[in-house]
Amino acid sequence: AKREGPGSFTWYSPAMSLASRQRLDLLHDLEAAIRQQQLLVYYQPQISLTDGAVIGMEALLRWPTANGQFIGPDRFIPLAEQSGLIIELGDWLLGKVCEQIVSWRNEGLGDLKVAINVSMVQFNHDTLVDQLALRLRQYGVKPSQIEIEITESVAMQTLEDVIDTIRRLKQLGVTVSIDDFGTGFSSLAYLQKLNADRLKIDRSFIREIGVNEGSLSIAEMVINLGHKLGIAVLAEGVETAEQAALLRASGCDEAQGYLFAKPAPARMLGQWLRETQG
Ligand code: C2E
Ligand code: CA
Ligand code: CA
Ligand code: CA
Repeated sequence: AKREGPGSFTWYSPAMSLASRQRLDLLHDLEAAIRQQQLLVYYQPQISLTDGAVIGMEALLRWPTANGQFIGPDRFIPLAEQSGLIIELGDWLLGKVCEQIVSWRNEGLGDLKVAINVSMVQFNHDTLVDQLALRLRQYGVKPSQIEIEITESVAMQTLEDVIDTIRRLKQLGVTVSIDDFGTGFSSLAYLQKLNADRLKIDRSFIREIGVNEGSLSIAEMVINLGHKLGIAVLAEGVETAEQAALLRASGCDEAQGYLFAKPAPARMLGQWLRETQG
């Protein structure tokens, strides 16, 4: 029985068991898709607002279905997290990303940097740093070519553990960014202890810039906060030239969003790089 409101109990409805059955089906499909190498990695460039140079790429997972559409990561990542499948998926992604970095290098595009999203379960798993070190060595990728993105909510876990994992990541030579920043409640002191390399201002604030005055103020606060602590600040979800201009004028270091490029397969990114950076 599931507790609904104060004092009232209801039995699981047929609709609910259908929903959990569907989730289980989806999980099995996801497992099969991973084993059969059906997941794709898309990349979205991150741009310096100072000179327009590409500072890196964010890797974003895509799950194509038979009818030519995608199941979004917002749907399958939580599922993979709950089931523990995320550990296997994360290691697979890491291998794919390293492979891509090497292939971009061989195409003459230089040593590009890729940011990888790491969820709470992965971040708290004790093999993360070792797995990373192993893959880097295996593919001959420099640690400085990988950035680990953790969300502010991950960073709000047990302070000592988070600080320790970040310390070990940075000791390895990878950089760390705090994703979706502004949606959690980290304090100035806390942020300083984390010792991250980059803050990513959450898209919800960027979206409202030019529409709602408070949003630019919030972005400016994050930019100032980052700079006081010596941390670079990136705005995510930048869609208009006006947003980019206002952010640049406010001292924001970097940006990412549809204005510059949508997430795309590596092959298209290579082409885009040759066209815009050459
Ligand atoms: P995120 O890390 O905050 O990624 C940014 C999301 O914003 C991506 O959605 C990206 O496609 C989208 N985006 C980028 N620029 C714009 C823009 O200008 N406008 C709009 N409207 N959207 C933009 P996506 O690819 O659907 O990913 C959703 C979330 O799924 C990610 O949010 C991340 O939390 C998670 N995710 C994706 N790939 C992975 C992964 O490999 N591992 C883990 N743990 N999580 C992942
Ligand atoms: Ca991210
Ligand atoms: Ca984000
Ligand atoms: Ca997000």
